[in-house]
Amino acid sequence: MPGILEEEKVIVLKLRPYQQRVIDLTISHLGDYPSSAPTVVVPTGGGKSLISAALANHYAKFGNVLIVTFRKELVAQTALEMPRHLNVSVFSAGVGRKETKGPIIVAGIQSIRKNWHKLPRIHTIIIDEIHWGNAAYNEFIENVRKHSPHLRVIGMTATCFDGKGVHLHMLKDPVTTGVCAEVSMGELLRDGYLCNVVAYNPPTKLDVSGVGVDARTGDYKQNELQAAVDRTDLNQKVASDILRIFAERKSVLVFASGVDHAGHLAALLPGAKMIVGSTPNKERDAIVEQFRAGNVRWLVAVDTLLVGFNATRADGLALCRPTKSPLVYVQAIGRIMRTHPGKTDALLCDFVGAVDEHGPVDEVCGHPPRVAGGEAPTRVCENCFCICLAGLRKCPQCGEEFPPPVPGERVFDPRTGQIVISGVVKNPDGSRTYPVDRVGYRRDTTNAGDPVLVAEYFAPNRITPVGVFFYNIWHHKASVAQRDGEKWLRHLAIPGGIPTNVVEALVRAQFGALKVPSSVTVMPGSPYIIRFGPAKT
Ligand SMILES: [Zn+2]
Repeated sequence: MPGILEEEKVIVLKLRPYQQRVIDLTISHLGDYPSSAPTVVVPTGGGKSLISAALANHYAKFGNVLIVTFRKELVAQTALEMPRHLNVSVFSAGVGRKETKGPIIVAGIQSIRKNWHKLPRIHTIIIDEIHWGNAAYNEFIENVRKHSPHLRVIGMTATCFDGKGVHLHMLKDPVTTGVCAEVSMGELLRDGYLCNVVAYNPPTKLDVSGVGVDARTGDYKQNELQAAVDRTDLNQKVASDILRIFAERKSVLVFASGVDHAGHLAALLPGAKMIVGSTPNKERDAIVEQFRAGNVRWLVAVDTLLVGFNATRADGLALCRPTKSPLVYVQAIGRIMRTHPGKTDALLCDFVGAVDEHGPVDEVCGHPPRVAGGEAPTRVCENCFCICLAGLRKCPQCGEEFPPPVPGERVFDPRTGQIVISGVVKNPDGSRTYPVDRVGYRRDTTNAGDPVLVAEYFAPNRITPVGVFFYNIWHHKASVAQRDGEKWLRHLAIPGGIPTNVVEALVRAQFGALKVPSSVTVMPGSPYIIRFGPAKT
């Protein structure tokens, strides 16, 4: 009956003001820049699924909407949270359903990536938890575009950076182009949508000074980490701290450094349950259910609980999992920040110094990739205000072309730390102007036996010279190029006039008394300089 459906629609999609705000911002952003792929940032507990549902509901008016998530648990959860009148299809091997009927399909990326051709034409893809798995999404989106060229892409996340803290849209081959709408953790705390976290600094600390860092993830090497922290004496101290510090708490999560570590800690906490990667789904679901119901006081887990675990009751977190990753840190604390009747705050017991390392959880934000000497330079697009890497030639969000770099400007590829823009300018006549950072001088003789000063001009970070010039002004038959050389030498030699011979020129060069041009211009394939830029001051 339409009356009931209408009523349900109103109840189910009742949005908080900030949720309506990010939805409006996203819709207007995609209206302006339909080919961009914006990210919506909503902290854990901010109702990300509901926002996805509302966006899906909106875009379903124009065509089919596909919501993709990374884990099986999230597929089921997302589908459950969708308003029932939308008749959501589910495509996920883990859930045991393979439906592709529009207008809204919720799918797990693992199941759908190989089955993209079974999808109907898609108008909008909403990717949940976009901070996991860049490569998988890129390939998938490219495939879907084959049938749906006007595809719109929206990313959703609580943390718009990767494990190393790098902004998602500044990664190599990014899926997204920037952030179009964001709710801050501070805003949710202020308005009472999240629970405050009180930190307790326990006397026992897990020492990770000898543990290596995995270059790929930017976090500690798992096996070394566990070996360093999983020691009987230490576990006993940690467990006794936990029992004392959380004496008043009823639903406490304990994040351990590995499977063995989790087992040893669980054994020391009365009635504790444990979830690790190998825990069978059924058992895992049962344990989570017991914890949600308040029947399990201690739940020990490894990283497996970081995604899609939703137990509003959790009012304590013992962090026994050292991490270098701001992503893991924020996701871990997010697990205890949801509100629950009777819960006034959540207690964090930090055995690993994470708060010291990463700072207040509501202030953690991403950064540009690190390069030698700091962070990669960024620029702000004057058209759409997207903050992007300075090395880009056009805005990833709105397509605005950026002015070419000025000669001599060196722009690093933040992803590799290598120079991608050397400041070489292609001129309309086909010549190239190179920035100069040093000159090598040597003496030579012409075929006719006349003395000549050979100057080789080097661009930054190049081993071979980009331009060569022969100063043979001391020979009486000066050509046009030689007269230019003379002009230049006149300029270089100040003060002290033109050197009277090659030897004098070399000596003065050695003492830095010859000036260096800011740039030299050559034709491609030829080392002979046709123009000099003004002298460096
Ligand atoms: Zn732009």
